[in-house]
Amino acid sequence: MNPGVIKFGYLVAATLFILGIKGLSHPRTAVRGNLTGALGMLLAIVLTLLDQNIIRYEIIIAGFIVGGVIGAVLALKIRITAMPEMVALLNGFGGGASVVVAGAALIATTFATGAPQGQSLVATVASGIIGAVTFWGSLIAFAKLEGLFTESSVQLPGHQLVNIALFAGSLVLGAMIVTNPSGAVVYYWVMVIVASVLGVLLTLPIGGADMPVAICLLNSYSGLAAASTGFVLANNALIITGSLVGASGLILTQIMCKAMNRSLVNVLTGGGQASDGATQSSDEIYEGRVKSASAEEVAMLFDAARRVVITPGYGMAVARAQHAVRDLANLLEERDIEVEYGIHPVAGRMPGHMNVLLAEAEVSYDKLKEMDEINPTFAQTDVVLVIGANDTVNPMANTDPSSPIAGMPILEVSKAGAVVVIKRSLSAGFAGIPNPLFAADNTLMFFSDAQQAALDIVAAIKEG
Ligand code: NDP
Repeated sequence: MNPGVIKFGYLVAATLFILGIKGLSHPRTAVRGNLTGALGMLLAIVLTLLDQNIIRYEIIIAGFIVGGVIGAVLALKIRITAMPEMVALLNGFGGGASVVVAGAALIATTFATGAPQGQSLVATVASGIIGAVTFWGSLIAFAKLEGLFTESSVQLPGHQLVNIALFAGSLVLGAMIVTNPSGAVVYYWVMVIVASVLGVLLTLPIGGADMPVAICLLNSYSGLAAASTGFVLANNALIITGSLVGASGLILTQIMCKAMNRSLVNVLTGGGQASDGATQSSDEIYEGRVKSASAEEVAMLFDAARRVVITPGYGMAVARAQHAVRDLANLLEERDIEVEYGIHPVAGRMPGHMNVLLAEAEVSYDKLKEMDEINPTFAQTDVVLVIGANDTVNPMANTDPSSPIAGMPILEVSKAGAVVVIKRSLSAGFAGIPNPLFAADNTLMFFSDAQQAALDIVAAIKEG
């Protein structure tokens, strides 16, 4: 096919990606944005298949089947609560693919020409370093999230110095690839090994509560690796797509850092993690102070309420309670109670987790308020219903500088008239620390699975 047509087609695909990302920036246009991006990807795949620069169709079909089956099985089997693990793996696969594709292109050109040339070698080096860091960093992030490995920050003696040495080592090897192309293939794989160790050591110090930031950053790295591979293959669509992923991942990283009140350097060096625990033990905080309530008692609280705010967290996802919560909110609204949702930016286990679940339950977007918007309204709120949230409503973030969430802005629910916390026990959340909110004077604990609790409260309100 005419190369001009292929190039123009890639430009159209890239434009569709940009429009897709624009659509994804608002929940109302997100579905359309997703479809636009998918259409761009379909176009890019078809063009690549029509282009002459491909290996045999049989091999592509075999890869398509193997990858497609693995992808479909993963997508069908994955628990919604395990999304961050899935995203971590996908980022890693992206980085790994860049390493292998750039390496294969290097071997092919070395065989064809004896010594590959300048510009593509620089891009090959970038793909190898960034891709290997992404692959191994993502595997460590996956292991931490899956609990296969400690979630806490792990610091080895002289950790940062070793990292600097490894980074410098990869750059030196990269320079050797560019200046001595005849030995490039061997140097490349040595460089990939050095960068792999760097990827592991870069992710180890990132502690549990900072994982959302790490995942966004690795997502950005996977995009940068793909963009570099685009330069290796001289493929404009890959360059543009990779740059888009790199840039949007970086913007998301910044948003998450702001949400956690961390600087990126703090997150990367584990500096924000003052300690793994809290100054006070759960016994000291809870002993004799926790009051529990039944569905009927919670229903009575709503009898006198004019304004209710629901603050969901990870437990709502575990319990798949979003539909029951929506029904409860609808029932309250039928009784002339104003209901809004307060959404913490790191609630759940992936950026936008709560928004996705509530959108699935067809809760109107206008009712979802971001933390900055909802916090000033708690003082005028009669009842806050905390559904399976813990760290995101933990006042220890403000009061205990040694806690792992120290400095993270929280939903200030305790300013409301009454707080009802729905969770199954007094167990800790992701950060592994106790929560003084559960022992506060105006807090009632409703110990139950979140979905069952919402159903029971609805029944109690109807009966009452
Ligand atoms: P938390 O992880 O702090 O707490 C969730 C609570 O849900 C637990 O204490 C648990 O208590 C409760 N729970 C679990 N299952 C159920 C159930 N079936 N019914 C009712 N309750 C249940 O959640 P938050 O959303 O408040 O905070 C998110 C945390 O995750 C933050 O620390 C954040 O940094 C971290 N994180 C966020 C990511 C993101 O991108 N959003 C990614 C990775 C980590 P019990 O067992 O007693 O029921």
